[in-house]
Amino acid sequence: MIINGQCLCGAVRFHGTPVPQRGVGVCHCGQCRRWGGGGPFMAVRMEGGVTFDADETLVWYRSSDAGERGFCGKCGSSLFWRALGAGNDVAINVSTLPEDHGQQIFEHIWVDDQPGWYDFADARPRKTAAECLGGD
Ligand SMILES: [Zn+2]
Ligand SMILES: [Zn+2]
Repeated sequence: MIINGQCLCGAVRFHGTPVPQRGVGVCHCGQCRRWGGGGPFMAVRMEGGVTFDADETLVWYRSSDAGERGFCGKCGSSLFWRALGAGNDVAINVSTLPEDHGQQIFEHIWVDDQPGWYDFADARPRKTAAECLGGD
């Protein structure tokens, strides 16, 4: 199933097919929360990466030694995180997709960076930063 995504103003548009048996990964790290405007970064991945239909206003900001973040330079929407050199294999802000995307939360990452003022009710696995950096 091909799903189309876009930023708030529609200048950045892309599509892809969600990676099967995965879903939405929720990152609670401080960088993701600051970048996204408060809440955690909830991300999906497409099989073989995304295909861009329009990306003239897409800007990449290098946020750490490991990765960079893509946003729309026109409307400011926070769109993607990717490891350096990952090309179009990006973690996509799930809120850029239509609401019937069909993906469910499958894990929480960097939970030791999560502040105490919110919590999620699901029972999906929780991984610490060390577990994220050491694993897959
Ligand atoms: Zn935009
Ligand atoms: Zn994060």
